[in-house]
Amino acid sequence: LEFKLSRFETTVSKRYPEVKFLNYLRRKRVLITGGAGFVGSHLVDRLMFEGHEVNFELIHHDIVNPLFIEVDEIYHLASPASPPHYMQNPVKTIKTNTVGTINMLGLARRVNAKILIASTSEIYGDPDIHPQPETYWGHVNPIGPRACYDEGKRVAETLTYAYAKQENMQVRVARIFNTFGPRMHMNDGRVVSNFILQALKGEVITVYGSGEQTRSFQYVSDLVDGLIALMNSNYSQPVNLGNPVEHTINEFATIIKELVDDRSKISHLAEVEDDPQRRRPDITRAKTYLNWEPKVPLNVGLQKTVDYFKKELQRFNYSRAK
Ligand code: UDP
Repeated sequence: LEFKLSRFETTVSKRYPEVKFLNYLRRKRVLITGGAGFVGSHLVDRLMFEGHEVNFELIHHDIVNPLFIEVDEIYHLASPASPPHYMQNPVKTIKTNTVGTINMLGLARRVNAKILIASTSEIYGDPDIHPQPETYWGHVNPIGPRACYDEGKRVAETLTYAYAKQENMQVRVARIFNTFGPRMHMNDGRVVSNFILQALKGEVITVYGSGEQTRSFQYVSDLVDGLIALMNSNYSQPVNLGNPVEHTINEFATIIKELVDDRSKISHLAEVEDDPQRRRPDITRAKTYLNWEPKVPLNVGLQKTVDYFKKELQRFNYSRAK
C-alpha cells in the first residue's frame, strides 16, 4: 500500500506542486457530508492540499439513511442553506437536520471520530440582541416558513450536546453566518448570487422589502479557515464564524451595482415573511479560542465571485455584450 501511495503522490506532485503529502501515519481520514456542496467543496480542496485523505471516495448517499465507514473526523455540512431551497421541501429539511445529524453523531460515536456540526446564524432567528454572541438564545418563530431550517439546526445543536454528554464524545459546533464565493449555484436564490447575476445579465436588482435589513457577509475561504481551526481546537462550545462588517441590503445593492454595472436598476419587491432584520456576528469567541478572524475584504471576495459568475454565464451564453 505504501508503495502504491508513493507512486500516486509522485504523479499528483508533478501536476499539483502545491499539494502537500502528510506522512502516511499522520494522515487523517475525513468524512465531509455535503462535500459536493458550496462550502463542502472548498473544504475538500483545502484538506486535500494539506494532505489528508478526503479525495479517494465520493459517496452518493442520503444522510437520512445510516452510513457505515471508518473515519477520524467528520465535518457534517449536508443541508440546504438557501431560504428558497430549504423552504421548498420543509419536511425533508427537518429530516436532514435531525435524522441526518443523529446518523452522523451515531457514526462518530461508533468509530470514535471527532465531529463538527455546521450550525447557522439562523438559530438566532430575528434577533433582539445585536450583534449576536453565542450566549444569546435566539428569537425564532417555531411555526414560520423558516422554522424547518432554524429549528432543524437548533435541534441539531441540542442533539450534538446530548450525545457529547451522554456518550463522552468530542464535538464542535460552528454557527455559520452569511457566506459567499465562487461555486455558489446560479439558482442559489440568496442575495449575493441574485444581485451579481442580475447585474451581469442587465436585469433589475431585486431588493426584498425596505432594504433596511442588514447582513454581514464572509468570503468562503475565511469560513474554511475557521472550520479547520475549530476542528483542530480544544473548544467544544458553539462558535460564530462570520465577518462582522455589516451592510443594509440597500447598501449591498449599490455595492454590487458599482462593482458590476453602473447601469443596473434597483427595485423593491414585497418583503419576506419572518426575514431577520439585523444580523452581525460577535466573533470574540473565535478570536479568543481559535485565533481566527476573517481576512478577505468584501470587495476582494465579491470581485472573485463576479469573475466566477461571468465565466458561468459565458458557459451559458448569457452575458450582456460589453
Ligand atoms: N434578499 C433580497 N433580494 C434577493 C434575495 C435576498 O433583498 O434577491 C434579502 C433577503 O430578504 C434578506 C437578505 O437579502 O433580507 C439576505 O437574504 P438571503 O436569502 O441571502 O439569506 P438569509 O440571510 O436571509 O438566509
